[in-house]
Amino acid sequence: MRITEVEALNLVVPTKVDKKPISLAYDEQLTKIVFDSYKSTLVRITTDDGLTGVGECLAKLTPRAISAIVEDAFRPILIGQDPLDVECIWEMMYASMRHRGHSKGFMIEAMSGVDIALFDLIGKALKLPVYKLLGGCFRNRLDAYASSLRLRDTETIVKEAVAYVEQGFGAIKMKLGRGPEEDIKRVAAVRDAIGYDIQLTVDANCAYDVATAINMGRELEKHQVYWFEEPIPPEDIDGYVRLSSSLDIAIAAGETEFTRYGFRDLIAKRAVDIVQPDICRAGGFSECKKIAAMASAYNMPYAPHTGGESAVGIAASIQLAAAIPNFLTYEYMRSDWSETHANPLRNSLTLEPVETFADGYIEVPDKPGLGIELNEEIVSKYRVNT
Ligand code: CA
Repeated sequence: MRITEVEALNLVVPTKVDKKPISLAYDEQLTKIVFDSYKSTLVRITTDDGLTGVGECLAKLTPRAISAIVEDAFRPILIGQDPLDVECIWEMMYASMRHRGHSKGFMIEAMSGVDIALFDLIGKALKLPVYKLLGGCFRNRLDAYASSLRLRDTETIVKEAVAYVEQGFGAIKMKLGRGPEEDIKRVAAVRDAIGYDIQLTVDANCAYDVATAINMGRELEKHQVYWFEEPIPPEDIDGYVRLSSSLDIAIAAGETEFTRYGFRDLIAKRAVDIVQPDICRAGGFSECKKIAAMASAYNMPYAPHTGGESAVGIAASIQLAAAIPNFLTYEYMRSDWSETHANPLRNSLTLEPVETFADGYIEVPDKPGLGIELNEEIVSKYRVNT
């Protein structure tokens, strides 16, 4: 089996967001730029025996940057290769730019989509779900939490929280970032509405400094919040170490990190208690399996980040989550940036829905590869490059 074609598909769905849905610095200037559309770059790889694999690169700002890397830099590496040589291909892609400093960012997001597409191909060729290729199924359903209550008014988020409980969720995440006092008041209101039997986690999207986060963490502990996600900016590893050692509440982070090299510091320094790689950003299956193994050596759980993934990335996240021993809980996205306009890339990009939820769990499908078929109508409707 040899690769004959590699294609990157940029999908963009314009939407309208006036108020930032999550914490964002310079939000007055940036909200419209950052949240103006739902975006994704898919990678489609074809082989000489007629099989097609699909993957996703997280493409949050400029999908064109990522599709250019896939088609200009990686396509020549991939054409003629056997998809089963997936780790060799990963290393070749990484080697193409690592000595020039491109060992994070768009480069690795592009590699992630290629790696996921290769695993989809291998699964289809061998007629096995990807979790079988990764070592087998630790669980055929994933403990899932509702993500997330956004930075909307308290009345709205309390109503949403109660609705999640009624839908069968045993765990809910809420966004922070309105200032420490306001945040804690909102946490108290949500806790009051859902009671203490529901697990509550919070996500500050890097809104605070270390001292503020330590004080907030102590308040959050009083409300029995399970984890405090991204309290501070990702570059401040020493700050994370200080936070983790100062607080009892679990510190979670990693959605902005890339590759085993990036996660090495986060894990080995015990900067966090829970790692949250995104398979469409951190390096695909090949790399996330290594990150999970490294975390397991430190007895550290792995809670996949899925926010912003399309149905393709979600399908990949589910396969990985089934196949790693230290999986903790699955981020089941229940809200979008826009309050009124749901993301069709998550809901309609595949012919069948990728997430089947019941009683607090997401089912793991056992079809070959990622177990999905693209809805070509949706692809052509939102495709911006041809
Ligand atoms: Ca997050």
